Amino acid sequence: MDAQALSRTNQAVNRTDMSDSYLNFANSSFGAKLTDLMGLPKPLVLERFQPDQPALNGTLLLGGGGTPELLQPLAKTFAAMGVQSEAHRALPQWLSIANQHGLVSGRWGVEDQPGAKVKALLFDATGMTDSSQSEELYQFFHDAARSVLACGRVVVIGRPPESCSSPRKATVQRALEGLTRSLGKELKRAITVNLVYCAEGAEAQLESTLRFLLSPRSTYVSAQVIRVGKPSSESATIDWALPLAGKKVLVTGASRGIGAAIAEVMARDGAQLICLDVPQAQDGLDEIATRLGGCALAMDISAPDAPALLSEAALADGGWDVVVHNAGITRDKTIANMKDALWNSVVNVNLSTQERINDALVEAGALKAGARVVCVSSISGIAGNLGQTNYAFSKAGVIGMVQSMAPVLAERGITINAVAPGFIETQMTAAIPFTIREAGRRMNSMGQGGLPEDVAEAIAWLASPASAGLNGNVVRVCGQSLLGA
Ligand code: NAD
Repeated sequence: MDAQALSRTNQAVNRTDMSDSYLNFANSSFGAKLTDLMGLPKPLVLERFQPDQPALNGTLLLGGGGTPELLQPLAKTFAAMGVQSEAHRALPQWLSIANQHGLVSGRWGVEDQPGAKVKALLFDATGMTDSSQSEELYQFFHDAARSVLACGRVVVIGRPPESCSSPRKATVQRALEGLTRSLGKELKRAITVNLVYCAEGAEAQLESTLRFLLSPRSTYVSAQVIRVGKPSSESATIDWALPLAGKKVLVTGASRGIGAAIAEVMARDGAQLICLDVPQAQDGLDEIATRLGGCALAMDISAPDAPALLSEAALADGGWDVVVHNAGITRDKTIANMKDALWNSVVNVNLSTQERINDALVEAGALKAGARVVCVSSISGIAGNLGQTNYAFSKAGVIGMVQSMAPVLAERGITINAVAPGFIETQMTAAIPFTIREAGRRMNSMGQGGLPEDVAEAIAWLASPASAGLNGNVVRVCGQSLLGA
């Protein structure tokens, strides 16, 4: 057990007055012995980001299939990130490329014997043009599967199947999804596995995504497919320690739970915050805005005049750089038992309001060029949930809004993406009956719920000025929940 990590987890959990007592027990010295003895599952304490950490805390093992197309851009990116790498025996050409970029690199393992344990695996699959080449993938992951350290990271990079030049290439690229999702379930020990489809010409946009996926910021993000495309406006050069320095960021629902964590992470990254919540939450709102040096905006976003008031506020502020639509409500009932007011309030707050606010801000020119809109959906909107027809409708609608607005906003150099949290330890999930709560908490590849800061880290990545290549993505922060696709 890493005592420091456990104490950080407890602090974060206690902030929301929630606690995963089984996780704490299984990681205590007595509990660890007992769970071993009884053969009970032992979820690991997840590593979480600390500002003084390097981009990757350990060595990365690199592999590739076919004629990998990304070796030069990856070498450049690793040099910028300070990533130390080793090459799988099937990729000897990496050594000279790494050398050209001033990287220290070596060959991993001797003959067919594995090398030392590594913190990350990265496989460049962009050069795979036919499924008959799949043995290269097999060999790499067969050799390395047992050599990834706990809380390690695995990233596979391919080309978007829909833009491949031949059906054979599109087929093998699409097949990567099945591989990564299965690896996420097999590798265990809190190792995350994600697939990045990098469009041709978007290679220079990979850095913000690799910094996220290779670091503890993505501790609860696994089995995701992330698309990096050519941006409509260039990613800005940024200070990676303070990526949101000077950026004006609106966070709705900021007084507690996930919204409060988003505000904290954004402030840590240098943002000037506008924290919004309903007037009834004024005390919590004032506390967080004051503590983070931002301003508080007490307002019900579903009020008819809210879009106009927000546009005025943004214009008076010289325009906003980031809008995070986090505020949301649940009013659960099976549809047969649901009154129309419950249906309408959920759809209005979680979806229609966001559409109206986006339209008003864009129409008023209140979002700056290069602005980022990040929405909060839910795995309920992907998998559906008993008693949540209204909520799942609204959260699936958020996905529809993101995907349909992405090309429209791209014309103005603005991006829009969503995160879809799974089971996150907040007051919302604390209200779920015990047995259902325990099932939701454990039914994922991490064996535990995520923390609000895990969602916040994903939002900060999507909101970064360096993430211009990310548009129209929906990224689940669910520890590879078994619910939904
Ligand atoms: P929460 O209830 O703790 O916080 C939601 C915040 O939104 C509250 O502060 C509330 O006052 C505010 N809010 C609600 N209606 C508002 C309105 N009309 N105007 C302004 N503010 C309003 O919930 P949370 O768990 O922190 O969830 C945050 C977001 O994440 C929500 O959109 C939720 O649907 C989503 N989500 C949460 C989970 C989870 O496990 N907690 C899972 C999936 C999605």
